Amino acid sequence: MAPLRPNTFAGLSLVLDRVAERRDELDWVEAQALSDEARYLLLDPAGETWLLAEREALRWLDANERRALFADLPASLLGIAEGRPHFLLALDDAHPADALTAALGARRIGLRDAGLLLPAAEAGLFAYAKGLAHWQRETRYCAYCGAPLVLVASGHRARCTNAACGRLHFPRTDAAIIVIVEHEGACLLGRQAGWPPGRYSTLAGFVEPGESLEDAVRREVAEESGVRVEAVHYHSSQPWPLPASLMVGFTATAHSRDIQLRDSELEDARWFTPQQIAAGLADGSLLTPTRLSVSYQLIAHWLRERAGLELDTLVAR
Ligand SMILES: [Zn+2]
Repeated sequence: MAPLRPNTFAGLSLVLDRVAERRDELDWVEAQALSDEARYLLLDPAGETWLLAEREALRWLDANERRALFADLPASLLGIAEGRPHFLLALDDAHPADALTAALGARRIGLRDAGLLLPAAEAGLFAYAKGLAHWQRETRYCAYCGAPLVLVASGHRARCTNAACGRLHFPRTDAAIIVIVEHEGACLLGRQAGWPPGRYSTLAGFVEPGESLEDAVRREVAEESGVRVEAVHYHSSQPWPLPASLMVGFTATAHSRDIQLRDSELEDARWFTPQQIAAGLADGSLLTPTRLSVSYQLIAHWLRERAGLELDTLVAR
């Protein structure tokens, strides 16, 4: 049986060297930026980028285009891929993005749509750039003393400009757990009131201070469904820069099927057998989470392991 496809946006380490140890070498970084091999990914203030008009690939700028169009805009080094330095150019409000679509001969696209269209490496690079750009945009003032910050380490750190403070601020990633809970041949899925009718997903929530990931799984499942879980096992993870999360996927086994939704964020939670999922997808009464998500992957994995069913096939029917 073929392995499940990798999580969307994950696996960037297979193609990109982040060269984190050289981000402070200003001369080296500048030489990379001026190189004919340099590529620049442009992001608008909302975190969207551009694709080539003629095919589904990122519209990278080369060093000449960067010089001509955005000489005053600081670039952040993403890393080296295929021997070429890759940079982020994050547009600020002084650089209106709307006129660029025609100028670049390109079309603008958000990360969710890009994740469904682009090859894995390009989707991962876009996600990385979007996460970094979001942090840069949101991190303008020192959280300790209120003075303005300046970006250092080629955009990967922000330093307080108050000499008496001088603290460094680091890009933030918010860990969230997401879990498929099983009990004797059925899995637990829930839905929030605002979702499209029929959509059910695995349970998820942010990790709190002082919690292990496994502790967060047990708490979130109990809070959202009243279900008590026993064994908790790691599955896989996914960067989810919408805007700043890391989704950490788990499988877990429930103690019983008792569901209690009092005080829950969920409108409904139910146990589904593989046959009920297949039937619900077939008659349209059940919708899966987006194909981009770890939730989809967890459900796909569970259906395959327990019933030999392929979620991609069930959804496509
Ligand atoms: Zn400060």
